[in-house]
Amino acid sequence: MVSSEHSYNHRFVSGAPVPWQPGKAVCVGRNFADHAAELNNAVPDQALLFLKPASAMVAFTNPLRLASRFGCTQYETEMTLLIGKRLSCCKEKEASTAIAGLGIGLDLTLRELQSDLKAKGYPWERAKAFDGSCVLSSFIAVNDGIDLQNIRVRLWRNGRLAQDGNTELMLFPVLSLLQDISRSFTLMPGDVVMTGTPKGVGELHEGDKLVAELGTLVSAEATVVFENA
Ligand code: ZN
Repeated sequence: MVSSEHSYNHRFVSGAPVPWQPGKAVCVGRNFADHAAELNNAVPDQALLFLKPASAMVAFTNPLRLASRFGCTQYETEMTLLIGKRLSCCKEKEASTAIAGLGIGLDLTLRELQSDLKAKGYPWERAKAFDGSCVLSSFIAVNDGIDLQNIRVRLWRNGRLAQDGNTELMLFPVLSLLQDISRSFTLMPGDVVMTGTPKGVGELHEGDKLVAELGTLVSAEATVVFENA
């Protein structure tokens, strides 16, 4: 059984405590042209944003327990930012000081349901913001010297490289994204931002062995277990 008790907390790779409770996740859709193309989606002229609640967050640790009641679930591997300062209508420079950590995350998606909802013009939340849909690695504290727009985002599934992107290919780079997001949604310490997936998304199956890497900064691995709940 998947426990109904929600016990997720953010973690730093170093083991240092993260002083903030998990908040919302702001996610960016279609931030890589190659991924937009694989789903036959148009590239947006403004960042496409959606939210996941804190209750959707689970740790990217082994085993990765997913609820079978949701049915067919796809992975999207994404560089994830841990926000450490309040950002509201910020400039890029201020945004750069608010990234407390970088991690690798899975934006889990019920693709068939999402397609149905999109076709009807309905909101996506049931397909994107469900329990367990926001899978987050530990975060590595970042320093000013890091180039956010030159980091590989990779996922191996059962030993095969399924996703291999680089943040240099983002349509909306990180700092301009944060500036843009903060005009609609005030970001608070403990919030995360999932910055979009490169191509290669696919369905998860029972027993899949996943290894995700954000450059050489952070990695996470887990075997997928579907549980009745
Ligand atoms: Zn995504």
